[in-house]
Amino acid sequence: MYIIPQLYIHVLCDDVVIVSFRYPFNMLMIILSFIHLIIVMVTWKQPMTEDGKPNYASAVPDYIFEKKIVLLVSLVFAILHNIATFCVFVSYFITNHPTFPKFRTWRPKKFLISYEDKDEKKEDERKSNLEVKFFSIQTFWYILLLVCSLLGSLFYGYFFSFHLLHMAQFNQLVKRAIQAVSKNGRSLLWVFFYGLFFFYIYALISFAFYREIYSSNEGQYCTRMHECFVTIFHRGLIISLFEFLNVPEGKPFTYYLHKALFDVSFFIIITTIGLNIIFGIIVDTFSELRDNKWQVDNDMHTMCFICSRSSYDFEHEGDGFAKHVKEEHYLWSYLFFFIHLDETRPNDYTALELYVSRLLEKEDYGFFPINRALSLQHEEDSSEIQLQMLMTQVSYLVNKMKYEEALKEREQERRKQSEWEEKHRSSQKKIA
Ligand SMILES: [Zn+2]
Repeated sequence: MYIIPQLYIHVLCDDVVIVSFRYPFNMLMIILSFIHLIIVMVTWKQPMTEDGKPNYASAVPDYIFEKKIVLLVSLVFAILHNIATFCVFVSYFITNHPTFPKFRTWRPKKFLISYEDKDEKKEDERKSNLEVKFFSIQTFWYILLLVCSLLGSLFYGYFFSFHLLHMAQFNQLVKRAIQAVSKNGRSLLWVFFYGLFFFYIYALISFAFYREIYSSNEGQYCTRMHECFVTIFHRGLIISLFEFLNVPEGKPFTYYLHKALFDVSFFIIITTIGLNIIFGIIVDTFSELRDNKWQVDNDMHTMCFICSRSSYDFEHEGDGFAKHVKEEHYLWSYLFFFIHLDETRPNDYTALELYVSRLLEKEDYGFFPINRALSLQHEEDSSEIQLQMLMTQVSYLVNKMKYEEALKEREQERRKQSEWEEKHRSSQKKIA
């Protein structure tokens, strides 16, 4: 799947070597980070002070094996990692050409737009699918990869762990799981902010009435308002209020009642409703993405990409769907043809190529054989013939009915006339 678009880029760009190695570079970087993970897991141990006690103040790891060997290996590893990440970074910039926002677009609008301006505007609107903006999350991500690789070399490899997250770029399943959160990120963020106001209200109430039951010995601070808020947010979200704010002994029932209302309302609003809204948004997005994926997969397996006919038609009439999509409507052949048009000078076009290239310029895709296929021609012909036959039969029947109707009418007319004649004759006889 991945190789064909690579080839496409391969043909379009001159920087062939770097671009076609983009995927291996990425993989190399991830594998190196994974090897580093294993090295860290196996060799790291906590640092000691000179008198043999654990040194909690230092983040510099101690090693199980000989320190010199581990440091040498780490140095070689860090250099390799830096090179691989730099290659990933460069190949990203070459394939995607991140563009800076155009300052021209911010100039004041003119009242009269000349034709030239219109053309210019059109040019601006045309966008390549490979194009990304410089100030985008993707570009920021690749810059972060490079920075973390450099920081990893400086700070004992702590920052190499970040590169493992890059795996999501190449794994559809992980990517979809992340999209489930990121796609509705804005609404999740708003719900979260809204939830923070609830925490603030509860922090205010507990600051006013329950300050005495916070014990700073157990890490529950409430001498100042922001401490109260942090404690409520931290403990309330993870443990729930009831668990960490106990009613002290010797309090009257009314105190207990108020505390019960306080705890139960917090449990219902935050723990039950609030968290479930957030989970609901994530689960909904995930199922929506899964449905979309199913739809896409279904289309890929049961529909021809070029003519949109279903596989059933080809299994039923032609030589099978597999043969149709590989030989008759091979989608990459269409792509290669467009690349061929791109690469050939307009003067060298054949009539057919000129026709297609003109249509492509107008973004008219009428030359695609939509709903048509050679292997279904026979079926179409036979159905057309059947339709023709049906039409002749129907028109024959209609004509025949018309003829019979006319005959009947003529018969009636003749009968009326003979009756009249008879009447007339008999009255003449009476007169005579
Ligand atoms: Zn087709």
